[in-house]
Amino acid sequence: YVYAAHIAPVSLPDGDCAMITFEDRTDIETANEMRRDFVANVSHELRTPLTSLMGFIETLRGPAKNDPNVQDRFLGIMESEAGRMAHLVQDLLHLSRVEEDERIRPSTMIDIAQVMETCVNAIQPVADNNKVTLNLTKPAQPVMVPADADQLRQVFNNLVENAIKYGGREKNVDIVISEPTQLSQLRATGVTVSVTDYGEGIASYHIPRLTERFYRVDRHRSREVGGTGLGLAIVKHIAVRHRGKLVIRSKEGEGSTFEILLPTQ
Ligand code: ADP
Repeated sequence: YVYAAHIAPVSLPDGDCAMITFEDRTDIETANEMRRDFVANVSHELRTPLTSLMGFIETLRGPAKNDPNVQDRFLGIMESEAGRMAHLVQDLLHLSRVEEDERIRPSTMIDIAQVMETCVNAIQPVADNNKVTLNLTKPAQPVMVPADADQLRQVFNNLVENAIKYGGREKNVDIVISEPTQLSQLRATGVTVSVTDYGEGIASYHIPRLTERFYRVDRHRSREVGGTGLGLAIVKHIAVRHRGKLVIRSKEGEGSTFEILLPTQ
């Protein structure tokens, strides 16, 4: 808790005295701290690939000037570093856009099963490259919810991409869309979309923090597999905007289920 004390002289009939008031600044200070952390994180995340790019440029200008093999290899690395920066900037833009329109609830009814199918088709080449099988189970009828199709596609994409990335050796990802049913967590009728992998899983103490911006269980590993640490923060904000919920269940060594609950009205 952070309090600010204000002292002011007060004249009373019995004589002068001082009035001390206490102001609870906890929320303001927490928000300030979060903003400072965020800026520090963004700077760090951008500086790392930039430093590496500068290093490679220097080498290409100097020692590797006349070595086409080294040049080719370095240009490949530079391309992937630049790609990472582009990915990060794109995720930052998505996050700020979602935060901006969090108060406006989407009203267009869309078939989320269709959205998931589009997403699975788009991500299939990545799954094939990683020898992962994506199993989609959905109701025979369309599953209509008020939603922003682009944002939902992003949610599904982030969850399925993570399941592929962190899915470990068991190369199956199960995606299940439920029939509409009464959901106690939403106190409303809704549908659930779950993405389950059978990979490394997540220790329970990490789970509540996964949706924080830039929080990663293993920073180094996440960097290796190309993550920005913003994916689940984006997922959570989009779920909130849809008056829905993100539920994470996981067991270390056994795998994880990421479930999105969405009201149908
Ligand atoms: P990233 O871009 O690093 O993947 P996310 O916000 O999508 O960032 O996820 C945050 C962290 O949560 C990841 O770095 C990873 O440690 C963990 N994580 C996310 N999905 C899974 C999963 N399916 N299995 C295991 N760990 C996961």
